[in-house]
Amino acid sequence: MKTALVYNPKIKEYSFGKGHPFTSERFENFINFAKEKLPNFRDIFEQIIPDTAKENDLKLIHSKEYIEVMIKASKGIVLPDILRYTTEDNFNPSTGYLPKGIDEAARMAVGTSLKAADLVFEGRFKKAIALGGGLHHAKKEKGEGFCIYNDVAICAKKLITKGLKRILILDTDAHAGNGTSEAFYTENQILFIDIHQDPSTLYPGTGFINEIGAGKGEGFTVNIPLPPGASDKSYQYVFEQLIFPLTKEFKPQIIIRNGGSDPYFADGLTNLGLTLDGFRIIGERVRMLAEQVCQGKEVDLIASGYNQKVLPLAWFSLMNGLLDLNIKLKEPQKPVFPKDFKLRETKEILKEIKLYLRKYWKCFQ
Ligand SMILES: [Zn+2]
Repeated sequence: MKTALVYNPKIKEYSFGKGHPFTSERFENFINFAKEKLPNFRDIFEQIIPDTAKENDLKLIHSKEYIEVMIKASKGIVLPDILRYTTEDNFNPSTGYLPKGIDEAARMAVGTSLKAADLVFEGRFKKAIALGGGLHHAKKEKGEGFCIYNDVAICAKKLITKGLKRILILDTDAHAGNGTSEAFYTENQILFIDIHQDPSTLYPGTGFINEIGAGKGEGFTVNIPLPPGASDKSYQYVFEQLIFPLTKEFKPQIIIRNGGSDPYFADGLTNLGLTLDGFRIIGERVRMLAEQVCQGKEVDLIASGYNQKVLPLAWFSLMNGLLDLNIKLKEPQKPVFPKDFKLRETKEILKEIKLYLRKYWKCFQ
């Protein structure tokens, strides 16, 4: 079966302007790189062109008021209280305001992820990759961290409205997914596992191990904050010792993974320690996990990464693992950390996480 590659070239309009770290040529660069590496690209991927998301889908997570503000700001209307609804990191550096057209572009990102989720839910594909998805910092009434609408949360919520009972969201972006966490903090149908750089050293400053959910959602939010420099072996250890046993116990009906290339050791914005091999390990483990627990059903949302030379290679390396392609890639920069850097610290963190979670999960008792 081919993999759905959900991609609308219009996603390049999801841009915050010149000088902003979220560059919009990333998607096209990746497609060109993948076509160059895979002469049989069309045998592996079926490109599906999605539409923008409808307002009702946005409302699954965001308030009507927030959406209206984004529509107005996107038209260039200057609102004096705009900082109630967004942080300045979503501003175009040259205008000091939200970029024109950003509402439509952000809806395209949501539409892309929703299409991918739908294709897997309907059984048309086992796997679907959404280029432009994973905007995990957006909250109900506030955009931040280069995110306007939270497509990850919208997708999961939509699948719940379609009748699914158990969904795993696995967030492997270098930053903690604060928006996604907030959306499901008190719910038990979504298991949210978030592996990221220690938030005391990086935006958004939340995502610590004691944040485990509340009410009936207690135990269903799992934060794995790793120290700066955490390496391929640390990630591998986390998959083997925590993500696999926990996911097998939860038994999700589908897996949604999000995150691009920003855990790379030379990302520029972050300080984790993955090499290209680490991305392949993530992809491979997610593929194996999906095969073991939910007949391979996986939705993959990709957008982040702030080293533009590395980005296409790291995304491709992830797909090497996800689709079992085994295409050789050359590390673009010499790794600065040993392969097992911070493994000892990672083991200690995992011990502590398990203490927090043992009350809720048999696999940690
Ligand atoms: Zn990130």
